[in-house]
Amino acid sequence: MQFDKSHLEKDFLSYAPGYWRDRDVSRWDDWTWQLQNRITSLAPLEEKINLTEEERAGVLLSGTKLAMAITPHFFNLIDRDDPGCPVRRQVIPRIEETLHQDYEMSDPCGEDAHMPVPGLVHRYPDRVLFLVTDRCASYCRYCTRSRVVSGAGEQSLETDFEDAYRYLEEHTEVRDVLLSGGDPLLFSDAKLEGILKRLRSIEHIQFLRIGSRIPTFLPQRITPELCGMLQKYHPLFISIHANHPRELTIEVKEGLERLANHGIPLGNQSVLMRGVNDSVEVMRALFHKLLQCRVRPYYLYQMDLIHGSSHLRTGVQKGIEIMEGLRGHTSGYAIPQYVIDAPGGGGKVPVGPEYILSRNDDRVVIRNYEGKIYEYPEPGRPATPRPAEEAATLQ
Ligand SMILES: *Cc1c(COP(=O)(O)O)cnc(C)c1O
Ligand code: SF4
Repeated sequence: MQFDKSHLEKDFLSYAPGYWRDRDVSRWDDWTWQLQNRITSLAPLEEKINLTEEERAGVLLSGTKLAMAITPHFFNLIDRDDPGCPVRRQVIPRIEETLHQDYEMSDPCGEDAHMPVPGLVHRYPDRVLFLVTDRCASYCRYCTRSRVVSGAGEQSLETDFEDAYRYLEEHTEVRDVLLSGGDPLLFSDAKLEGILKRLRSIEHIQFLRIGSRIPTFLPQRITPELCGMLQKYHPLFISIHANHPRELTIEVKEGLERLANHGIPLGNQSVLMRGVNDSVEVMRALFHKLLQCRVRPYYLYQMDLIHGSSHLRTGVQKGIEIMEGLRGHTSGYAIPQYVIDAPGGGGKVPVGPEYILSRNDDRVVIRNYEGKIYEYPEPGRPATPRPAEEAATLQ
């Protein structure tokens, strides 16, 4: 029996057809139509929204760095007039992308130095990151892999699939493979299935996961056929990428529910960005909406030191403040781990508010989310017999 849960849907909106209302949108729900009709140049962009000088100049320069592409679905979330719109800041280039800080890098997480085979990043002992494509449905201006993603930047991704499979076969310590890129869900079902099947033929690989922004950029791609194919390769997890509650539209929710209904556990990765999601209120709304879509917030990333991202960066203090505002105040399931991907290639390091006030061999002094102080004794002091009468009552 189906219960009426429509009251839970009220925060989920559909923005379609939005800026396309005067066009033929009979194929709106077809993901190939969405890709063919992406906004990729200045003229169609200016037809729809009012650009600032900073944005205009950014768009003209994006072809030499990270291409601009925005699916009609995602474009509809953009406010026509407000250059501070949190969705707009994520996908419309700005001239500030050409500004560099001396600590910014083209490969901030030091991935290229940890590639034993082109396209395969092996940084941690038991798991690898497998970059299977350099294309995405839309491009995020802060992309940590903008050196290779979109094909417009300084390098190109030269994944060698056969070499990668051979490496994985030889490295029996690898039990977890994370497919990423670019966006692996941009492949056809058949192509993606070929990769999953090949990985599943390697006995020591237990766990597969896919990192994808397709559920938020192109929810039309989450077809029943795709889900049916993916579920053959369980255990398979998907990490999605959403930064602002507005991204969770009714179409996105339906796509996520379809994935979940096929047994795929869903996590979310967000990037902390100035003017996008740098407040407790926005983050809390995002994480609550994610839980309603059956997605568990997984990581909140401090912005990587990618070239030209200083206009989107906040201090680490902001991230700590947000974590402080969540823990204890809302469901533990709604709280991601806040991490800094250590510049140069140290991997993800958890950061956050300090809850341990002091610690020695005898005791740990902690505080809770309200600032109240508690002591937890450390084991190690010899135990003494309980008083006789107390022991008797326990008989
Ligand atoms: C993030 C990442 C992983 C996965 O890390 P988890 O903490 O296990 O999610 C694996 N390899 C690389 C290179 C990564 O950047
Ligand atoms: S979807 Fe991921 S890989 Fe693609 S541009 Fe955005 S952050 Fe980069």
